[in-house]
Amino acid sequence: MQKSYYDLLGIEKSASPDEIKKAFRVMAHKFHPDKKGGDEKRFKEVSEAYAVLSDDKKRAEYDAYGRVFSGAGGGGGASSAYGGGGGSTEGWDFNGFGQGTGVEFDLGEIFSDFFGNTRAGGTSRPARGRDISIDVELPFTESIFGTERRVLIAKTSTCKTCHGSGAKPGSPLSTCKTCNGKGKIRENRRSIFGSVQTVRACEDCRGSGQVASESCAHCRGAGVVRGQEEVVVRIPAGIENGEVIRLNAMGEAVKGGSSGDLYVKVHVGKHPFFRKESSNLVMDLTVKLSSALLGDEYTVKALDGEIIVKIPQGIRHGEILRVRERGVPVSQHERGDLLIKISIGLPNKLSKEAKKLVEELKKEGI
Ligand SMILES: [Zn+2]
Ligand SMILES: [Zn+2]
Repeated sequence: MQKSYYDLLGIEKSASPDEIKKAFRVMAHKFHPDKKGGDEKRFKEVSEAYAVLSDDKKRAEYDAYGRVFSGAGGGGGASSAYGGGGGSTEGWDFNGFGQGTGVEFDLGEIFSDFFGNTRAGGTSRPARGRDISIDVELPFTESIFGTERRVLIAKTSTCKTCHGSGAKPGSPLSTCKTCNGKGKIRENRRSIFGSVQTVRACEDCRGSGQVASESCAHCRGAGVVRGQEEVVVRIPAGIENGEVIRLNAMGEAVKGGSSGDLYVKVHVGKHPFFRKESSNLVMDLTVKLSSALLGDEYTVKALDGEIIVKIPQGIRHGEILRVRERGVPVSQHERGDLLIKISIGLPNKLSKEAKKLVEELKKEGI
């Protein structure tokens, strides 16, 4: 099992954002691959840890579910780890930085945040729909090779007729009455600092200042409709029991804002013969005493077809045979191994004939 993000950064689970930042700064300088004695693998690990723990939403998600995989919302790419890249910061080059870990974050964003580049300082957040979480049961074999699941979810979705605008397609526009066509609404609020004026985008016209004169017939102007939607969830090969896949923007829709996310928690069933140990599959095989003494061949039913296994002469109880590349797919071109744990079966009863033969063996000192 992988170390927790907290362990990677050497901090407590209760660490404050400041402590997280400090710990990461130390680790990033220590492990940066451009430095002497740097360690690219460690650097990636601490970067991933920081990317998640420095983001309130992702941190809460991590605390609740552990590592979350980015599923393809609406058919996008499977993961965008190290996305953006952001070129160089302090002469550090993040391009060409290895394959995705399956966890999504944007290094460029981390470092611009870290070294004080200004980010768009939007203070008022747009509305966001609720997140939805569902559970999916998965047979063991499908968890090993990955699969696709279609799930039917009852939720509020963006209206497909008006694409969320609430306006009848093609209807003429008129000035928004709520904001008098300004697109913005100013509000004076009293606070401990005195009267504060805030400006927010008008919800009715979504900041455009204009509204349709006729409402969409399908959603009656709501922009969203409640109903059932089929969602395709791509489950990556080698997913562990309890891991979670996030599908961006596949949660509840809300008018004039962004949709929430859909979290799919995967429950992997047990297999009667196989277990998963990181990228390896492990199984037990009982061979006859004579096979162990003389060597033999056994046909084994792996998850993806039969394999002929050579039992070497003199194999011992508990020894492990390794069949390369028949374990869990790690990438398109790489698989873990199948490990076959050998036990030697002893007969419950010996026939007269067999007993005689064993007596002979005994004389041989076996
Ligand atoms: Zn509509
Ligand atoms: Zn308006």
